[in-house]
Parts: sequence; C-alpha cells; structure tokens
Amino acid sequence: YGQAVESVIVRLPLNDKVFRDVDFPVNIPHDNFFDCIFAIMAVDRATAELGWKSNNEPNFGPVHRLATDNSDDLDGAFRTLLRKMNQTRRQEDVIMEIKHLNPTPIEAQRRGSNNNWAADSVYRAELRLIQEKLSCGVHAGPNRWCYMTSEKPDEHIALGYEEICLWARSIHDNDSDPDCLLPPRCLRLPGVSPTAGHVRANTISKPSIPPIHVNINNAPLLPKANINQTAPGPSARNLKRTHSVVSTEESSDSDGDSDEEALRLSDVIHRLHRKFPLLNFPQYMPLLKQEGIIYAETVANFSEDFYTDLGLTEGAVGQFLSSVKRILGSEKREKKRVRAYSRQYSVEI
Ligand SMILES: [Zn+2]
Repeated sequence: YGQAVESVIVRLPLNDKVFRDVDFPVNIPHDNFFDCIFAIMAVDRATAELGWKSNNEPNFGPVHRLATDNSDDLDGAFRTLLRKMNQTRRQEDVIMEIKHLNPTPIEAQRRGSNNNWAADSVYRAELRLIQEKLSCGVHAGPNRWCYMTSEKPDEHIALGYEEICLWARSIHDNDSDPDCLLPPRCLRLPGVSPTAGHVRANTISKPSIPPIHVNINNAPLLPKANINQTAPGPSARNLKRTHSVVSTEESSDSDGDSDEEALRLSDVIHRLHRKFPLLNFPQYMPLLKQEGIIYAETVANFSEDFYTDLGLTEGAVGQFLSSVKRILGSEKREKKRVRAYSRQYSVEI
C-alpha cells in the first residue's frame, strides 16, 4: 500500500454546468497536468487564468491561485489536498475543483474571428481521435479506454484520461502515429514491451504471399530501416504507409464504406491548419458548426458561393474544398487498408 502513488480527484469545468472528474497521480509533471486539463476543458492555455478550491471549502470563499507556468501552486495544492484526505477519515472524497477565472463569453467565442479556436484545441482533435479509436465495447465508461496489443488481443489494458492525454500530445507532436496501433514511447503500459512496434512490424510481413506496399498521397516511402518506432519526428507519421498488406486481402475487400464512422470536420481542419497555417481555417469552425457542417463528408454538399457567403475568403474556399476532398479520399483508402490489415491479423491468431 505504501508504494502506491497517491492520486487526487480533479473536477474540471467543461462549461458552466457540466464537470468532469479525473484522477491525477500527485507526482505528475506540472506540464503534463496542465496539458491534460487544458485539453479536456478546451480552453486557451495562453490566456486562461485558473484557480482551485477543494469541495469542502465554502463556495463564497476565496479561490486559490493556480499558476500554469510553474509547479509551485500545483505542488502546494496537491500537498493541501493530500493533507485533507488524511484528515477526513475517507468519509467523503476530497476533490480539487478547478475554476476557470476568465472564461470567454459564449457569444464572443462564436463570433471571434481570431484564432481562438485554434489555440483552444491544441490537442483536442487528437484527444477525440484517440477516444474514438480506443473506446471499448466491453468496458464502456466515461473514464475508461482500452488498448490491446496485437500479441494479446484479448488482454485489455485500461487507460484513463492521463494516458490518453499523453498519447494525444504525442500524436500532436508527431511522435506517434494517429492510427493508435502503437502506444507512444512516453507511455509505459504494463505488459507492452518497448520493442512492441518492431515485433509487430515483423509479424505483419510474415505471410507467405509477398507483401505489397501501399503508398497513399504519393508521399515517398520510407526506407525500410525506419519501420521500427524509433524513428522520431515527422517521419513517424509516415509509418502506417509502410505497413504491408497482403494483396489478396486488399482486393477481396468488398464491403462498402456505408457503415464507417464519418470523419469529423474538426479533425480535418486541424490537419489543414498544420499545412496552411496562414489561412487560419480553424477560425471558420464555429461558422461551419453553426450550419451543421460537422462531418467532412458534408462539406461537398455545398457550393463555393455558400462558403463565401458564410464568410470564408475566396482564397480559402478553393483550398478548403479541394483539401477536404483529397483527405476524404485518402482516409477511405486508409480505413480499407486497416480493415484488411486487422482481418489478416486475426486470422493469424
Ligand atoms: Zn476493454
């Protein structure tokens, strides 16, 4: 018991009515802590001012300061909370309630033409992606995701918010692949060897039929030596393109895309923003959302004029339409490949 790292329940405001409780170990580095909570709260780290209070302090009392650029306030808060936890004979949970001290009025958020949204959502797209990919039918729960290695597909490794936030951050930084097949190196999961990526890459090319390399987007293939997960930086993003697929599986794949989950426009826009930062596509997100254009598939249903009327600049519209179309195309091919790939794998087992 004495060895276990103590944790604190942190209650994060998602808006003025909805809250989410997340467990954080008290030895979490302050940067990771703030990355996580800003991603979950979806507020801008650069401008947000935070405070905290424990749930057993009076509502009208002062809020404690929580500076986000160093660890002093956080350390102090954790110390105080741990002390309270030891005092209250565990009758009642001690919860650290985070207060967003300078929230932007809703109206300003919606109308804001600056890069509010972009800054708000540094990891949000990635976080959502992971939440979707790692949601588990067996262990459904608001704070629970599951990762399974290819070696032991029936062994569910439970992930909480902290883990998926770290994972999101690592995808955001291009340190791991957005397909979520391999956990990032910064995340040490029980039973997953750091070389899992390498082993897996070998397993995939084992079938007797010579593997073909599928090349999406005409991006140059990586040299084979880079197949293991140790390749850092942007090249890691290309990893999935070098995974091989058995040709028969690829061609026999006949089920359509009708039951595929739609691609969220916010994810696509996030990608475009990386490529065309000066066009500042995220600024249009609230407008598009207001019109119900939430999925990338919906984009093509409207004309260029529609988007111009909506407030997109003429230069942005053309780029937007063609890029979304291109990403949708490559995403479909990619999903098809992942399907073929996982089927092939389950056959092997
Ligand atoms: Zn599970």
